[in-house]
Amino acid sequence: MKVPQVSVVVPCYNESEVINAFHTALVEALEPTGRPFEICYVDDGSSDVTGARLRFLAAADSRVRYTSFSRNFGKEAAMLAGLRMTRGDAVVLMDADLQHPPELVPQMLDLHERGSDQVVAQRDRTGEGAVRTVFSRAYYRMVRRFMEVEVADGAGDFRLLSRRAVNAVLSLPESNRFSKGLFSWIGFEAVSFTYTNVQRAAGQSKWGGRRLLNYGIDGLLSFNSRPLRMAIHTGLWLFLAALGYALWIIANVVLHGVDTPGYATLVTGHRRTQRTSAGHPRRCRRIRGPHLPRVQTATALCRERDRRIRRGAHSRPHPCPRPWPRTGRTGALAFMNARGLRQFASFAAIGVVNTAIYYAVYVTVNLRLPYLAAHAVGYAVAMSASFLLNSWITLRTKPTWRGFARYPLSGAVNVVASGVVLHLAVRALGMDENVAALVAGLLATPLSFLVARWAITAGRPSTPPAAGTIRPHMHEGQR
Ligand code: UDP
Ligand code: MG
Repeated sequence: MKVPQVSVVVPCYNESEVINAFHTALVEALEPTGRPFEICYVDDGSSDVTGARLRFLAAADSRVRYTSFSRNFGKEAAMLAGLRMTRGDAVVLMDADLQHPPELVPQMLDLHERGSDQVVAQRDRTGEGAVRTVFSRAYYRMVRRFMEVEVADGAGDFRLLSRRAVNAVLSLPESNRFSKGLFSWIGFEAVSFTYTNVQRAAGQSKWGGRRLLNYGIDGLLSFNSRPLRMAIHTGLWLFLAALGYALWIIANVVLHGVDTPGYATLVTGHRRTQRTSAGHPRRCRRIRGPHLPRVQTATALCRERDRRIRRGAHSRPHPCPRPWPRTGRTGALAFMNARGLRQFASFAAIGVVNTAIYYAVYVTVNLRLPYLAAHAVGYAVAMSASFLLNSWITLRTKPTWRGFARYPLSGAVNVVASGVVLHLAVRALGMDENVAALVAGLLATPLSFLVARWAITAGRPSTPPAAGTIRPHMHEGQR
């Protein structure tokens, strides 16, 4: 057999009623062109006698080849297997049900020989139901708007591809394919013509409503990163809204004091207040008598309670006092209590004041010195002011030279952390660069606060929480 110049790929699923008629029509259309051809049938796991018919056709004609799937994998998979079988310079894809008229193939071959890598036969909507037409039109409008490749209404899989276009399609690693999009995505010059839609010759369409809907969804998602971007943007806005709400609650605590003990820490992300350790059952017994000092930590109260329970000294149940944040925390969330939050708010406010100080110094010095020198002086003054204000106001401690030497580290951490977050937000999440800078600034502030607090207070004995800041609920017997 001569090396075929033309290959025709035909996916078949339960097409026993029409396959012989299709084969005869196709051969009658191809033979007069004088070009050597092959027909590559793919039996997509048919449950009727399609497989047996194809086997018979292949045995009778050496130009016919076929492959068979173990089960139904769908038209996309069948087309891919068919493309892999082809050897011709021009490859035509068509359906087996005679809805893609074989008599159009010679015209497609002529157009290809005039230099087109793709020839697309586009059907009109003659004879199609009104409902299907409305939905199809709406779908293609949506596809044109959202998809990042061009898919024309009525341009299906009836098309001719040059060998290099086929190689391009086969080089793509996709296993779950939306070929309409891929054919457009690979590029190459394409020509198209319209033909009158015909009904299938026999048998039934394999595309029920649900299958068609899934195919449509696959198509929309395959060449469209908008849903993913939308999910990321929604997440970002929700995050910013939550952050704003948390800051509002913190500001309320700082300005107006604690209203409902534990609420601010619980809502703004403090997890420990919710936990009940195994050694401290949620209910404990009343502690009688003035045995305990007036102000104690929750841990001390519960330890005493446990000792008394072990000794069998108590009988009536009483809720365990644990509605306030614990003390003595370390780590990144160490400032998530009322005192820490006040400090953080003060730190943030001083940051705003310092920006103003920097700018005032910069503008003044710039009258006499070059702008870079003015920047250096402004920065040094603002940094010193920040150190002093945070020592006196935020942390209520005496500034030391050691602390002053460590303090610039906070600025350095801020620059690096915000730079990293900015980079990740823009590169990994595709965030808008201006929004990302805002988010990076917000996220880096708590970190620079922690470093600033460490710089100012490291090496000093830790101050116990001021009475009244964290106040355990008193038991009756203690009052
Ligand atoms: N087809 C296939 N596997 C499937 C469904 C369909 O190979 O799971 C083939 C089918 O035999 C026909 C072509 O794909 O050759 C188009 O199918 P159908 O006529 O059912 O689709 P419609 O024309 O209704 O869109
Ligand atoms: Mg059909």
